Amino acid sequence: MKKTGRNEPCPCGSGQKYKYCCKGIEDKDRKPHAPSKFIHQQGMEFLKKAMSILSSSEEPLRCFCKDNGFFFFKNMSFANMQEILRKLSSNTLTKEDFFVCYKEHTTKEYADRVLLTAVKQSDAFKKRKPIIDSAVNCHFKGRYELSIPAFFIIIEGLLRDIGELELKQTFKPTMTNEGLEEKLLYPAADSISYFNSFISSLYVGSQDEEKFNRNTVLHGANNNCFNEENSLVLLLTVLEIQNYIFHDKSWPPTLKTENGVVHIYHPNT
Ligand SMILES: [Zn+2]
Repeated sequence: MKKTGRNEPCPCGSGQKYKYCCKGIEDKDRKPHAPSKFIHQQGMEFLKKAMSILSSSEEPLRCFCKDNGFFFFKNMSFANMQEILRKLSSNTLTKEDFFVCYKEHTTKEYADRVLLTAVKQSDAFKKRKPIIDSAVNCHFKGRYELSIPAFFIIIEGLLRDIGELELKQTFKPTMTNEGLEEKLLYPAADSISYFNSFISSLYVGSQDEEKFNRNTVLHGANNNCFNEENSLVLLLTVLEIQNYIFHDKSWPPTLKTENGVVHIYHPNT
């Protein structure tokens, strides 16, 4: 059978483009094939199925965000996501719909909490704690002319350290999805290549010789670049890097019983 193109009408007959509809449901050869050392065998097939469905439901949003020059951060509630999916299927979804959710969800307390774990789990974060704290404070005080350049420095530094890139090497983001499928983290495994291409687009621009081949925000070419939206995208990018580190260090969670109450416990937190 002929493969459906991203922009062709979806074969399910919804009238939507394939990429915004059933693209994520295509059969993938998923790990683990053998019993996993992370997940108890009983229930693994169920979990595999559930995580595949979760990832396929996010695929249309990853495609939408990619087409609109930003990244699908999952910093929103389940209800938010349902509403966004509903708008996508009725062709009324805009970039602003995402930012409403991101602003609501990304409070100073939330950012501080994620970064506290980041500093514990990663030397790359630990050694940058002073500049990260300053950038986050500036962001929440509305000093975007300070937070935005600082976030650019932080993101490149973090990804160079994590990818073990030497300074003389060209900066190429290298978050790896190694090991994520073994842990059944299919949504993260599927989003990581999008993340790397998103970072490339932030730093190197379009690669089109006719166009300004640098990111307009980074190079201050855009009059209105120091705004809340751009600063928020960069803050979420920093938090997203920690998200992947967390999957590496603290997944899967285990159950702990304390005074007769069962808690979900993430190792190394
Ligand atoms: Zn469809």
